[in-house]
Amino acid sequence: MLIVMKADATEGQVKAVLRVIEQLGYRGHPMPGASRTAIGITGNPGAVDPSHFENLPGVSEAVRVSKPYKLVTLDLRSEKTVVQVGDASIGGEELAIIAGPCAIESRDQAFVVAEAVRRSGAKFFRGGAFKPRTSPYAFQGLGEDGLKILEEIRETYGLKIVTEALDEAGVDLVERYADMIQIGARSMQNFTLLRRVGKSRLPVLLKRGLSATLDEWLLAAEYIMSEGNYQVVLCERGIRTFAQHTRNTLDLSAVPAVRRISHLPVIVDPSHGTGKNYMVTPLARAGVAVGSDGLIIEVHDQPDHALCDGAQALTLVQYEQLVSEVRAIHEVIAPAPVT
Ligand code: PEP
Ligand code: MN
Repeated sequence: MLIVMKADATEGQVKAVLRVIEQLGYRGHPMPGASRTAIGITGNPGAVDPSHFENLPGVSEAVRVSKPYKLVTLDLRSEKTVVQVGDASIGGEELAIIAGPCAIESRDQAFVVAEAVRRSGAKFFRGGAFKPRTSPYAFQGLGEDGLKILEEIRETYGLKIVTEALDEAGVDLVERYADMIQIGARSMQNFTLLRRVGKSRLPVLLKRGLSATLDEWLLAAEYIMSEGNYQVVLCERGIRTFAQHTRNTLDLSAVPAVRRISHLPVIVDPSHGTGKNYMVTPLARAGVAVGSDGLIIEVHDQPDHALCDGAQALTLVQYEQLVSEVRAIHEVIAPAPVT
């Protein structure tokens, strides 16, 4: 059930509706929009009787939701969500660029890359302190020491820090040091982790699972939102297919497909989406052309010596060139308004 408030409904009237929802034992999720507020209802085991709401002051209509998702959908919020991360944002007019190494390997490595990321005008720095590796013997990340380096980078360059949490204890740590929690492809259906980040005050970057359908991915976002965290950014990072010429198949059709259903911002990861250095820039250009709200790019000062994902890392020079190219494309497809 979705309660649509009248355009002139007062805050008090919205609160009164939320109280009725609570009294019924359910949870209300108010989504203020440009013209009206809508309130999503979750926690109801079956259909909700619309007569509880129809005659309340300020209510325009009570609408049954037949889709599996109630909060990610455009039915609840017709304008795009802009996820605010301090003074930076994802989903607004500006193309969001999140860049940095796959893993934080050392203070020196992280600072050299961060300097280039800052110079490019990007507002977000990425880097894993906890790495989900296929082999238990591969470099697993520096853990909290890596987070401390990221915190120093934030202080030095003013970049917003995006980093992955693999488990609930990791979320506690990431919340202390970073600005945005990344949920990796392998964790997209770790439902306890999704619920935990749903209780976080930090925005969440939710990567698409390696074999996730659009519905499964959106329902993962729904898990987070149903706990009260509405600051979710979706990230298309490629899926497993029979193709062998790439690490993953970057499904760029996911961008317009998400856009048709959801108000959440969606970004593209051409690094994991291709796994190959020479493909990252062409697919980044395509991602922006297809309407992505941003890009997440792996960059390394010495890709040949990277401890993780070196084959897909751009050099600092390649990265700088990529940024200027994708900015030019973004300017063409979403020109800044003339002021
Ligand atoms: C990463 O961003 O380095 C990463 C591990 O990504 P994914 O979860 O998409 O594989
Ligand atoms: Mn990586």
